[in-house]
Amino acid sequence: MNWPKTHDSDYIIAGPCSAESRKQVLEVSNSLKAIGKVKALRFGVWKPRTRPGAFEGIGSQALSWIQEAKESTGLPVMVEVANVQHVKACLDAKVDMVWLGARTTVNPFYVQEIADALKGNDIPVWIKNPMHPDIGLWQGAIERFHKVGIEKVGAIHRGFYSYDSRPFRNEPKWEIALDLRQKFPEIPILVDPSHIAGKGSLIQEVCQTALDLRMNGLMVEVHPEPKSALSDAQQQITPDHFLKMLDLLVWRMPSTSDESFLKILEKKREAIDSIDSNLVEILAKRFALVEEIGAYKKEHGVTILQLERWFKIMEMRKSQGKSLGLSEELIHELYQIIHKNSIRIQTQVMRKADEK
Ligand code: PEP
Ligand code: MN
Repeated sequence: MNWPKTHDSDYIIAGPCSAESRKQVLEVSNSLKAIGKVKALRFGVWKPRTRPGAFEGIGSQALSWIQEAKESTGLPVMVEVANVQHVKACLDAKVDMVWLGARTTVNPFYVQEIADALKGNDIPVWIKNPMHPDIGLWQGAIERFHKVGIEKVGAIHRGFYSYDSRPFRNEPKWEIALDLRQKFPEIPILVDPSHIAGKGSLIQEVCQTALDLRMNGLMVEVHPEPKSALSDAQQQITPDHFLKMLDLLVWRMPSTSDESFLKILEKKREAIDSIDSNLVEILAKRFALVEEIGAYKKEHGVTILQLERWFKIMEMRKSQGKSLGLSEELIHELYQIIHKNSIRIQTQVMRKADEK
């Protein structure tokens, strides 16, 4: 079983959201094999659906079609498991790798049961991030598999549910995948652009970001006829579309030994460092003033927050940012952090003064 190293970026897994029929499984598997770049095939057999009544997967019957696909292509096959019965069925069917879905990673009881059921089997396990941005659950699931002695454990970043994650289905929150990288430098991390994007047309840009952030590969949902797919129809792409997309992706080098490039980069980084240092000094000055104002408000019996002032600051900075080519979103996020901390500092000042 080939296993990606953390400097690889081409570990590509593809396959349909759900195995739907023998014909569909074999057709898509053979097309993916022909592409030549696919390292493993994925299939959903038991589908965790948010609401009842939707297609819940074919169940164990699909495992024999998946075995056929494995024999006919020579590629390893991978299936999602969400409980002990799924694990047993997959082991019996000689499935090569399993993954835990986002709705399973959220539940430490299920994760532990699955880990115990896999104990003693040398089978790679991929763990998707939980539905919501709680890195502790993702980390905990990885640790549970390590603890039962499973060596090949990888992570799959599939984005996070958010009430409004437009334009995507799940917000990428790349910083969380990068945090996971820092916590487990030895673990390969793949990106599932299909569940992040939620739409075929957005998949390529998510893949490109994944490669540019040095993720180790991709897990993409590919269906011979996406329009008639029984699950996730909007986000599945055809093998042809997949092949074209792979050709359009730019696989950049992680670094270079080109001397003149390195010299110029160093100069630019020095300039950034000096700006960052000014930025921190300016922040320190701003927060010292915030503290002074807090004490002054306390002295005069005035509350911490004056809503109109806060709205006005946001408005003024957004319009200044706009005239300098900065996005409204950046200013908004930045000032939310600054404001949150201003309130925290003034609350401390008020409390201290209260204690006197
Ligand atoms: C899937 O991969 O088909 C799936 C159900 O994904 P997730 O767990 O990321 O929602
Ligand atoms: Mn899916």
